[in-house]
Amino acid sequence: MVGLRLSSYATKPIEADFIPSLQRPEKQILWIGCSDSSFKETTILDLLPDEMLEHRNIGNMIVDGDLSCETTVKHAVVDLKVKHIIVCGHYGCGIVRATSRDGLRDPWLMRLNALYATHRHYIDQLPSVKDDRSFVELNILEQLRTLRKFPEVASAMRQGQLHIHGIVYDPASEKGLSITEATEES
Ligand SMILES: [Zn+2]
Repeated sequence: MVGLRLSSYATKPIEADFIPSLQRPEKQILWIGCSDSSFKETTILDLLPDEMLEHRNIGNMIVDGDLSCETTVKHAVVDLKVKHIIVCGHYGCGIVRATSRDGLRDPWLMRLNALYATHRHYIDQLPSVKDDRSFVELNILEQLRTLRKFPEVASAMRQGQLHIHGIVYDPASEKGLSITEATEES
């Protein structure tokens, strides 16, 4: 389930035309974000609200058997034919933080614990701020991996009709970073 190599991803600032606006009310993006309502991170992309379909849960996670998430992804890809799916996490996420997951239930807890167990040698050696940030970033990449396995997503990506992106939002700077696995860029 989790096998990411730690040196194999990079973050870089979101550019102004990351996804250009269509300037018309047509859904072109499914945004999968965290339920945290402390900020409106979708505004980092300069798009009309009508260009985005939003799905939110705690920790912006894509968990097997989550009917709500699976239905939303299928509707967005098959019916609305969105061109992009974005999984967006945020630094300081209270759900994803390795130290504050007490009380969280399975399968969310199980997935986060598995992710932590895989990367703990790396995460535990980092200063605490960096450690939280890295875990948020690794969680986003893990959700993208799950998303690619959805049959509708895999099919649309093969046909070049769908692109998926990981973004991490920094509430301190109110800016976003795109996060990619190095193997995707080669
Ligand atoms: Zn959060």
